[in-house]
Formats: sequence, C-alpha cells, structure tokens
Amino acid sequence: MLEIRPNCECCDTDLAPGSTEAMICSYECTFCKRCVDDILENVCPNCGGGFTLRPIRPKVARRPGLSIDHQPASTKRIHTTYGASELKEFARSTRHIKPEHR
Ligand SMILES: [Zn+2]
Ligand SMILES: [Zn+2]
Repeated sequence: MLEIRPNCECCDTDLAPGSTEAMICSYECTFCKRCVDDILENVCPNCGGGFTLRPIRPKVARRPGLSIDHQPASTKRIHTTYGASELKEFARSTRHIKPEHR
C-alpha cells in the first residue's frame, strides 16, 4: 500500500493526499510535478526510474474500510540528500533513455 508521503523530496513543498501535483516512482520516491519536469527530467534521483502521477486515495469509503481516513497518509517528511547540481547531472546522464528501457 502506498505511504502517500507529505512533501516533495526536492523542494519540500507540501503534497496533500489529494494533490494532483504529486509524482511517484516505483519505489514511491515522491516529488512535485514541477521538480520532476524542471529539475529531474523524469529521472528519479534515488533509483533512476521514471515517474507517474500519484493515485489519490478516496476521501469517502465507498467500499467498507477503504478510504484516506481508514488508511491515513504518512506524515514523515523525506528530503533528498543530493545537491542541486548532482540532481541535474544525474538527470542529464539518464533522461535520454525512456523509463521502459532504463
Ligand atoms: Zn518539488
Ligand atoms: Zn525512485
């Protein structure tokens, strides 16, 4: 089950559970859409994979026991340890390879 992390690892902007700006990789590394587009260029700095929009867990339990109230989002903020130039360099090294070929 997704943790639904509370922030962008790069710029630390809040990414509420219902945000349509939250992007995740297959390991659930979480970034905002702006950082994914402008800095990471669809290359996850932690694993090298691509990103997709994070699915939104329903607010209303339309099936019993399944909603954001039943399985709440994580509150643990995560911050990348890579500096800005390292992020860009890593993106440059990999962005030309489509995620399905990485
Ligand atoms: Zn960001
Ligand atoms: Zn990743």
